[in-house]
Amino acid sequence: MKCVICKYGEIIKGFSTVILEKNGSTIIFKEVPSLICDNCGESYIEGKINKELLFLGQQIIKSGVEVDIRKYTKKIAA
Ligand SMILES: [Zn+2]
Repeated sequence: MKCVICKYGEIIKGFSTVILEKNGSTIIFKEVPSLICDNCGESYIEGKINKELLFLGQQIIKSGVEVDIRKYTKKIAA
């Protein structure tokens, strides 16, 4: 599969760091499974995983945490 951004690189499986910012809170998810372009570095995160991150991020923000860094695992996504 070719990258849709640079139309040159190959998409390979990897991990990304996703940062969510809302209402002054910053939530950082590390080791999120993603597809990454080996040329421009653009990362593609599956829609399902993206939804999970948004849902989790909202829950964390609701709890009043300003900064939270956590690893993405199947456990937290369940
Ligand atoms: Zn690319």
